[in-house]
Amino acid sequence: MDVSSFKPFLKCEAAGLAQFKKQWEPQPPKSGPNLLIFGNFIHSYFQSEKAHQEYITKDSKTRKEIFKYGKPEKGFKKDYVAGGLADSMIKTLAGDEVFNSVYMPGDKEVIVTGKLGNHLWKGKIDSLSLDRGLFCDLKTVDKIHKKHWIEGQNYPTNFIVERGYVMQIALYQELIYQTFGKWLQPFIFAVSKQDPPDHDLFDFDTNSIREMMEENIETIKANQERVFNLIAGKEQPIRCEQCAYCRKSKQITHSIHITDIELD
Ligand SMILES: [Zn+2]
Repeated sequence: MDVSSFKPFLKCEAAGLAQFKKQWEPQPPKSGPNLLIFGNFIHSYFQSEKAHQEYITKDSKTRKEIFKYGKPEKGFKKDYVAGGLADSMIKTLAGDEVFNSVYMPGDKEVIVTGKLGNHLWKGKIDSLSLDRGLFCDLKTVDKIHKKHWIEGQNYPTNFIVERGYVMQIALYQELIYQTFGKWLQPFIFAVSKQDPPDHDLFDFDTNSIREMMEENIETIKANQERVFNLIAGKEQPIRCEQCAYCRKSKQITHSIHITDIELD
């Protein structure tokens, strides 16, 4: 199991399972670049020249997103052209001394594996520096300082908490320990899609964050059995009846008393 397949199950089991089985995927944003390809374009740039060239030409979907008419000889599309959004985000990071001394020396895209309870997990570390005792994850984000709202919580939170990155980083720290026998300090580099891009470095170095990370590992342990059973078809997923997947696949089964309409 990996954290990006697991997280959707915690929001809605039915949607998580449909996503896992590749029967459904969340709507991409109506405008702007494909998030996954855009993020990988930037990640692979800092991995190596070779990895970058291989990534941007790897298949027709990727080529179509990046190049005019899907053909490298026709040149980059607007988000990827020199001076465009991806290029200015890359230049922002490449021009930063801390990024160059903390992120760049690490081994890139390192696969780590391990066990939580009885289940096997894996992760991919963007930049791993075993000798210096740290690892980094690189995130692209609309706006670093944007307020995010979590259901059931009446105060805003930041993109790292909202997107479940605390769980990802806690898991990676554990898997690195199980793979290499070392407990490393995590960091997130974030670069924004603003013009000009914002960028910053975030650490997880307080007691309250460490507690939050431990809680996230416990959340994985408490929910993984159920998720594996859903995937194996041994148990049936619960529909939240409110998310995009549930709305799209909804059939009315009975009427609801008007006094029982659930409110957000
Ligand atoms: Zn749902």
